Amino acid sequence: MKMTRVVKIGNLSIGGKHPVRIKGMIKSPFSNRDAVLAEARQLEKEGAEAIRLAIKEEKDAALARILKKHINVPLVADIHFQYRFALAAIENGFDAIRLNPLNIEKESEVKEVAREAKKANIAIRIGINSGGFKKDFASSQALAKQMVKVVANYIRILERERFFDIMVSLKGSDPLSTIMANELFAKDFDYPLHLGVTATGSFLSGVVKSSIGLGQLLSQGIGSVIRVSLTAPSFTEIQVAKYILQALNLRAFGPQIISCPTCSRCEVNLIQMVEKLQEKLDKVSDAKPIRVALMGCVVNGPGEARQADIGAAFGQRKAVIFRKDKIIGRSDEKNILNDLCKEARKLWI
Ligand code: SF4
Repeated sequence: MKMTRVVKIGNLSIGGKHPVRIKGMIKSPFSNRDAVLAEARQLEKEGAEAIRLAIKEEKDAALARILKKHINVPLVADIHFQYRFALAAIENGFDAIRLNPLNIEKESEVKEVAREAKKANIAIRIGINSGGFKKDFASSQALAKQMVKVVANYIRILERERFFDIMVSLKGSDPLSTIMANELFAKDFDYPLHLGVTATGSFLSGVVKSSIGLGQLLSQGIGSVIRVSLTAPSFTEIQVAKYILQALNLRAFGPQIISCPTCSRCEVNLIQMVEKLQEKLDKVSDAKPIRVALMGCVVNGPGEARQADIGAAFGQRKAVIFRKDKIIGRSDEKNILNDLCKEARKLWI
């Protein structure tokens, strides 16, 4: 892990040796307060450790006061164009401010926000997105360099104001420019990075782009916070973020399924079984991060099942249940999920 400074958002420590954090974002319109509140609660329950709100009008800043009565995760105000919205957000108790350096550019305005943020003891994220540039770049590398240059200039403004509670995000709409920009930044600066690939397209495309972009950086130890951006409900972004971190062994969020892709040898409806098993495991909170295998046949099944903490492999519609190297039971298509979960439960509690 690349060592960075530690920055706090409310009671959440980011960077240094702290685990990579997961950030979510409210998507409901602020005119529907009930929907905003329900979404914030859902994000918190799903595992968001900070929640961002896009402030479009000065009055939106008051939402922080309302939400803080109902949820415990820190809130980040996303500010564009109007530095005064940042001042309002600070006044209303937001725990951090995101400023876009491509549309809040006046040094006097940035400094005023920094002074108020310092008084309130809150952090500022300098968040640049490739879509904010008014020109095209010849290559992903040229775009990445320009993003880092703009952010570096902004950091200097904040540092001249003796403001150091800084986080940075450099997001391209493709994984390559995102990876390059963050690698470049991490070489020269030790401010924590919030990672994300932006404008990622359909759900599957977004999952792939985010996994490549974030995965490549995280596997080099770069990144202190991640935000998966999907054109999909906000809770799915948290789920995908958790899968990415768990796949890289950076965080553990309960039981993980190992299952085969199935092939013509498989004689059971494994795809449906795995979906149902996932639903069952999703309902378990505070479980240990054990590996639960469900395999379609005896070719690779027993081997994979044995390497998991608990597993089952099918053969002609009957399943053998393994715990590590030992066969501990037998089951069938109808009962396998219950039998497997019964055994798994003994391990995760
Ligand atoms: Fe096919 Fe068996 Fe491998 Fe599953 S474990 S993919 S059913 S060979």
